[in-house]
Amino acid sequence: MESMSELTFGSLTFKVAQGDITRFPAEAIVNAANKYLEHGGGVAYAIAKAASGDVREYIRISKEAMREQIGRGWIEHGEVVVTPAMKMEQYGIRYVIHTVGPYCGGKWDEDKKEKLKKAILGALKKAEELGVKSIAFPAISAGIYGCPFEEVVKTFREVLEEFGKEAGNLEKVYLVLYSERDYERALRVV
Ligand code: ADP
Repeated sequence: MESMSELTFGSLTFKVAQGDITRFPAEAIVNAANKYLEHGGGVAYAIAKAASGDVREYIRISKEAMREQIGRGWIEHGEVVVTPAMKMEQYGIRYVIHTVGPYCGGKWDEDKKEKLKKAILGALKKAEELGVKSIAFPAISAGIYGCPFEEVVKTFREVLEEFGKEAGNLEKVYLVLYSERDYERALRVV
């Protein structure tokens, strides 16, 4: 069977792509953050490094933005914080939307799925609010947080299918997989 990398849901196109999200030409990119926006490892560290050059500085900027936008020092699933793309603007990226997915440690159940859905939906809604046409997501929770990769990809598809019905300005949603292997695996699931 031929694998499909692009799906259309209403006015929305959902595309699975391969690459480094810190250079991906979408107007907004999403960070798979932890609730304190510490950006200690994985894609969060890569984004902080690419944005500012100085990870500690970007953590400071993120925490300040969280105080202003959320009013406390952590975010819940579904809550998001926006920070500027800084040096990543050279690729056409304007915003970083920080969202927090569930911790799975290899397990998967309805509760984790709901939390992941909230995390994805929160970022999509914020993208609409910001008026961007394109947004790129990493495989939230599929790295250090240990959620089953296939389940994460399926959840993305489900959320996009639902969100496609109410989409406004947003036209393109990308799921950007870092490794060739993950990309191939994702194509088999969507
Ligand atoms: P989490 O803690 O939510 O699991 P991780 O950062 O550990 O977040 O991983 C999420 C996904 O992001 C993993 O699939 C990982 O391979 C991927 N990833 C890591 N660096 C990048 C990058 N530069 N671009 C795109 N995806 C990345």
